[in-house]
Amino acid sequence: MIVRQLVCRGLTSHLCAAVRLNLRSPKMARPSSDLTQFRKEFDKAKHIAIITGAGVSAESGVPTFRGQGGYWRKWQAQDLATPEAFSRDPSLVWEFYHYRREVMRSKMPNPAHLAIAECESRLSQQGRSVVIITQNIDELHHRAGSKHVYEIHGSLFKTRCMSCGEVKANHKSPICPALEGKGCEKRGCNGLLRPHVVWFGETLDSDILTAVEEELEKCDLCLVVGTSSIVYPAAMFAPQVASRGVPVAEFNMECTPATKRFKYHFEGPCGTTLPPALERHESEPI
Ligand SMILES: [Zn+2]
Repeated sequence: MIVRQLVCRGLTSHLCAAVRLNLRSPKMARPSSDLTQFRKEFDKAKHIAIITGAGVSAESGVPTFRGQGGYWRKWQAQDLATPEAFSRDPSLVWEFYHYRREVMRSKMPNPAHLAIAECESRLSQQGRSVVIITQNIDELHHRAGSKHVYEIHGSLFKTRCMSCGEVKANHKSPICPALEGKGCEKRGCNGLLRPHVVWFGETLDSDILTAVEEELEKCDLCLVVGTSSIVYPAAMFAPQVASRGVPVAEFNMECTPATKRFKYHFEGPCGTTLPPALERHESEPI
């Protein structure tokens, strides 16, 4: 619920309305898990939107610091990933993010990330586009080689100045000593830097949302990977796409009541189900 509140506060009202509308829509037939049929639609698609959630990162062993056993010291993400926690104790929050950055040094993109990146690169040579819309902040899509990525929750590896708003990439390790005594480096600013991550209770970046909406308007195939379609962020975007009659395919660990609204559902770890769905087809020229 917390996440949902976060989303709806940050959303343009018509997106929220689209989600609500869809929740009241009548039930549709069971989704198909026919890969051959999915591949026919995949082969025709010119603009593919891939929405990815926590499940994709989980398969790389990335901890969320949420739910049962999800602690850093005695805290969970919802205790520290808030503007209130940062204003109370910026050092503590930075320590948490420092830890999360360091954890990423031992994590690698998994077959789902790699299949998405390979697909993007291959299809771009055919004049077709793949866009990734992710809630994950770990940059594993980038590390896998994906280029066209919207990080709707920001990144562990970017800082933002609290005074002037400047966003900068930062992959230094360790980040804490690197930031010591240093604020924003922009001339005369010296403002406090914070992680460029959307925290609980904060709104999503409106420029990114606008760009994402344009992509969703354009897409002719949508994949929802590692998150169920009743859970944010897919709940926010996928019903909108499905309501235009565009095929939506879910790849996740479970079925939910929302699954019925989509054309395809492939159950299991996405590192297993996604590669055969996105691999090169014999009909592709390249
Ligand atoms: Zn600044």
